[in-house]
Amino acid sequence: MADAVLSLNVGSSSIKFALYGVGSTDALEVIAAGKIEGIGSSPHFIARDGSGRILVERRWENAAGGHELLLDELLTWIDKTAGAERLLGIGHRVVHGGAGFAAPVRITERAVAALSAFIPLAPLHQPHNLAAIQAATALRPGVPQVACFDTAYHQTQPPVATRFGIPRALSDEGIRRYGFHGLSYEYVARALARLDPSMASGRVIAAHLGNGASLCAMAGGRSIDTTMGFTALDGLVMGTRCGAIDPGVILYLEQAKGMRAEEVQQLLYEDSGLLGVSGVSSDMRDLLASPAESARQAVELFVYRIAREAGALVSSLAGLDGLVFTAGIGENSPAIRALVCERLAWLGLEIDAQANAAGAATISTANSRVTVRIIPTDEERMIAMHTLDIITPHRARTA
Ligand code: AMP
Repeated sequence: MADAVLSLNVGSSSIKFALYGVGSTDALEVIAAGKIEGIGSSPHFIARDGSGRILVERRWENAAGGHELLLDELLTWIDKTAGAERLLGIGHRVVHGGAGFAAPVRITERAVAALSAFIPLAPLHQPHNLAAIQAATALRPGVPQVACFDTAYHQTQPPVATRFGIPRALSDEGIRRYGFHGLSYEYVARALARLDPSMASGRVIAAHLGNGASLCAMAGGRSIDTTMGFTALDGLVMGTRCGAIDPGVILYLEQAKGMRAEEVQQLLYEDSGLLGVSGVSSDMRDLLASPAESARQAVELFVYRIAREAGALVSSLAGLDGLVFTAGIGENSPAIRALVCERLAWLGLEIDAQANAAGAATISTANSRVTVRIIPTDEERMIAMHTLDIITPHRARTA
């Protein structure tokens, strides 16, 4: 078996991973991919090979194993069982790279210290991303590690798209819009360039609709605007996050309702969004299946806000040639795609109901003025590609 590279995407209660073989052609082939979920309660580990066959499934009955112990289990399983001869490197998803990290970097103690400064800007993700880097470095000290940032892809945005209307000194300090889901958008932009070079060279909105959700305006494959800003709270209504909100609401919560900053953070990141509005679930599948009026309203708001923000990005792009749906909801929900496209019909956008129901690669009609596509995202593969570029820069590779 070949040399391999490992991608890690570590969240508050999960470790998602993908192990790729780096073959003689330098194409990346999935050796194993999977996740450990339920960290902190009853962890569940599952890994499949490239064809979807289950390679291992294991449950732990108690919460005893934290992230580091379970990462150790994963790395040990990879060494012993997965069949990778040599682990060339480990790539990590890091949500916030601030203004300074415009591209993936090899991990050093200095880099970790610099990235720790962004923990308050991404409290749901950054601490877990950095803890995983430290744990993996301790567990495999000889293996090079690379940090890949969700903010980096958006560095091509013009200054006017990243500036808030606040005093200049604060902007200069870094209080500005950064944008997130960059690894997903970068993967989608590259895939689109391969699949449809003409659309890729035009004005495209990519809709990453998952538990976290955002839109990205791409001109010629480069990000020029996006709905997330200083933090991953901004923009669309998400699974548990509120999306764009009048900042006066936060002042009111603190001043009139006496809420502490930590309580407001919990409210905006964890208790809001689809979950908060519906009172039923943060999972779109549950909401679409629910008879509750509040669930219907949550779906309605989710779609309304996507269409509204898309309208703003059409203005940033000065028109629209293509729309791409990606991530859990975007790839798998014909109902949400249809509702979003219905609201955007004024753009001359028309979808083919059958193609949409079937989840076809192109779901717009031949007459549609805007081409609508579904492109499954693959952040783990993007991380692996960046990691190899950093640790073996001489290699030329195909995705
Ligand atoms: P992600 O964050 O990209 O993994 O997306 C996770 C979200 O995708 C889940 O919270 C679900 O709401 C949603 N999802 C997955 N499959 C479907 C489906 N078939 N229909 C609607 N939503 C789905």
